[in-house]
Amino acid sequence: PLFQKAAFSKTVADLRDLPTDSQCEVAFAGRSNAGKSSAINTLANHTRLAFVSKTPGRTQHLNYFALEPGKYFVDLPGYGFAKAPEEIRSQWEGLLAPYLRHRNALCGLVLIMDSRHPLTELDLQMFAWFAPTGKPIHVLLTKADKLTRQQQALVFREVQEALGTIGENFSLQLFSSLQKSGVKEAEAILGDWLDL
Ligand code: GDP
Repeated sequence: PLFQKAAFSKTVADLRDLPTDSQCEVAFAGRSNAGKSSAINTLANHTRLAFVSKTPGRTQHLNYFALEPGKYFVDLPGYGFAKAPEEIRSQWEGLLAPYLRHRNALCGLVLIMDSRHPLTELDLQMFAWFAPTGKPIHVLLTKADKLTRQQQALVFREVQEALGTIGENFSLQLFSSLQKSGVKEAEAILGDWLDL
């Protein structure tokens, strides 16, 4: 697999701590429990890698995984869990918003949605907010193993149409960490972004 050398690099709680050597990084965003950690682990061919992002003290931060010198996966905080509104706002304004809008090394966003519950309000907000950067968004519709072929085709079309009304530079696919399906397709896209 393409990303098998991934290793935990660092946890970033403050913009000043972003790695300076980064040439290209791919960020992963999604609602909590959508399958983001599992997807990162599957792509990185690693059982526990992204679960370091879930250790206390790291869940609200950016977690960097090095693929090669200067190339990273960045696990963003999962959204949608009940948090105090001030906490959400300060995290968004202080770290996530400036990171997503102004990080030059960021070459694309992977948006994780549970294929059974896609297009939540926060998914749409994240998509609409990132789309104006002009950078590509790749949507992984995870847990595809829980759907029939017919349901998969329906959800694919539904999400494609809904996102198509908000932005242009995006792609999507079905994905299952359980069955390891969709891995090659995701690797091809992210490998292209990362020049790997
Ligand atoms: P995160 O909070 O977005 O990082 O989500 P996790 O990766 O921790 O996954 C949340 C739950 O969904 C866990 O119980 C996983 O075992 C389950 N899960 C994740 N990916 C898949 C998948 O592809 N198929 C199935 N059936 N379950 C999955």
